Amino acid sequence: MRNIVLFGPPGAGKGTQSALLVDHFGFVHLSTGDIFRANIKGQTELGTLAKSYMDQGQLVPDDVTIRMLEDSANGHPDANGFIFDGFPRTTAQAEALDRFLEGKGQSISGMLALEVEEDELRDRLAKRAETSGRADDADPAVIQKRIDVYNAETAPVAEHYQGQGKYHGIAGMGSIEDIFARLRDAIDGLA
Ligand code: AMP
Repeated sequence: MRNIVLFGPPGAGKGTQSALLVDHFGFVHLSTGDIFRANIKGQTELGTLAKSYMDQGQLVPDDVTIRMLEDSANGHPDANGFIFDGFPRTTAQAEALDRFLEGKGQSISGMLALEVEEDELRDRLAKRAETSGRADDADPAVIQKRIDVYNAETAPVAEHYQGQGKYHGIAGMGSIEDIFARLRDAIDGLA
């Protein structure tokens, strides 16, 4: 069983590529952003809390996010591998994920990090704003905040996996098909 962390800044293409990888490999896809948005839509208490952070481009606190992710993963006892999208976003989340998987006799097989230039990210997010309906895509100041938070708090998560020899940088520029082929080949190469 392979468990993958799909990593990269906002607008890197994690959601788009996750859908293709799910089709190809049969992973269960867990996107913390998607789960938060479902909670906002369902007007749950968690949704109200998450929205107050998301609308400002800030991270939802670790304790809430980790608990939610673990509950979601536990909802798929028969999963033949997970693709974690948008999680972990802090080193504390990465450590919690390691402990959680270890408790199940599992581990992360590899982190695939989509590398995309910042100007391209801004262009993609502005374009996505036209169709996503996401408040956090519509405001350039919030987009910039998300990129800044990524650089300050999330980028260091790569070092966590580098230390474990599990980091794989993937060129995230070019066509969706070409990027998918790079990810697919990298996953095929994982033990
Ligand atoms: P995303 O859909 O991955 O772009 O996430 C949208 C927003 O949800 C982020 O800007 C954060 O506010 C929040 N979020 C998603 N995943 C996490 C996470 N792992 N930790 C903290 N906040 C998160």
